Amino acid sequence: MALIVQKFGGSSVANAERVFNVAKIITDCYSLGNDVVVVLSAQGDTTDELIEKAHEINPNPSRRELDALMSTGEQISVCLMAMAIERLGFPVVSLTGWQADVRTTSHHSDAKIKKIGLDRLRMELDRRNIVLVTGFQGVNKYGDVTTLGRGGSDTSAVALACALKANLCQIYTDVDGVYTADPRTVPNARKLDQITYGEMLELASLGAKVLHNRSVELAKSYHMELEVLSSFTNKPGTIVKEAVSRMEKTLISGVARDDKIARIALTHLKNEPGVAYRIFSLLAKNHINIDIIIQSIGREDTKDISFTVPLDLKDETVQVLNDAKGALGFERMDVSDTSSKISVVGAGIVNNPGVAAMVFEALYEADININMISTSEIKISVLIDKEDAEKAVRVIHDKFFN
Ligand code: ADP
Ligand code: ASP
Ligand code: MG
Repeated sequence: MALIVQKFGGSSVANAERVFNVAKIITDCYSLGNDVVVVLSAQGDTTDELIEKAHEINPNPSRRELDALMSTGEQISVCLMAMAIERLGFPVVSLTGWQADVRTTSHHSDAKIKKIGLDRLRMELDRRNIVLVTGFQGVNKYGDVTTLGRGGSDTSAVALACALKANLCQIYTDVDGVYTADPRTVPNARKLDQITYGEMLELASLGAKVLHNRSVELAKSYHMELEVLSSFTNKPGTIVKEAVSRMEKTLISGVARDDKIARIALTHLKNEPGVAYRIFSLLAKNHINIDIIIQSIGREDTKDISFTVPLDLKDETVQVLNDAKGALGFERMDVSDTSSKISVVGAGIVNNPGVAAMVFEALYEADININMISTSEIKISVLIDKEDAEKAVRVIHDKFFN
């Protein structure tokens, strides 16, 4: 008998028929004699709809209240699933993040899981209950509900699997595995049988939303193998693990796209030491993650600095920078949210200087202009106009995989 954690995403439980389809997957696993803990996301677009509802009432709600509202989506899912499983005649209990004792930091809408108290979970498993837990949420030290950031149910599932020392953690979604690019926009993308934690972490962090990046980080540090598979088809998925053996060596493991970024340019800064330090330490203090940074070569006594931030932090970033305009000494701030970041990821990039040239060649051949570039040992990212993004992913993917 094994302990198996299964997670089902929003589209897998979007309506009554799909709830019963998933209930069947869960109960089949239980019927084999396994202990089963299940993490669910909110049905379909429920989370987006809740956010819309909030903004109809208040365009700038407090993060505490927004978290409390968003967490209800997952609560609906686990109750409905429990009712479906009851109807199939199996013992089941649904738990909220609070009931399952998922304790998090207090950073609302981006909380990190600190600890999971296992007493209640163990008690329910000992009773041979199928245990359903709300994804995406926990409770902070004040007893307030927190959420883990969009897509965070994957992280809830992996955290539970690690805490319970599960034998297997399955992430069921609406595609049958991890592909070399989003299979919805790149029809000839290839499914990967296996991918390393490191490559998956980069792909997830760079926009391949099939897994929440923090779920991969957790899996890597606890050596928890993940299987990403479809709840709609009965096929083996992709295994995410430490090392993989690939029959066919490819230069890169995938192409990812991130549209949710904003580019900010500060112009006419003083060309003197300490300018970058002042800007980026201020942003770090405000928990604003910076991605690609470009500083122009100083001309006479001024220089410009451009960087990208997550789109949902755009307004906050602008506010923080404007509040410190005098101290930072910029003349103008240009803000644009019409860019996309396209990245190629692969452990082999460090040893293959040709990879960057291939990316640039693909974009040149498609007449796509590059606005910013950043590289590391394992990835190359370019910032381009959003309207070119779909084409860019396709031509870059074709360059490496055709
Ligand atoms: P869930 O609701 O199950 O969590 P998500 O919508 O968060 O599902 O993630 C699954 C989606 O991720 C797929 O429908 C697919 O469009 C997208 N995706 C992006 N990049 C990839 C990739 N490289 N491989 C597979 N899916 C990808
Ligand atoms: N329901 C949440 C979201 O839409 C969490 C998740 O689906 O993982 O972001
Ligand atoms: Mg998801």
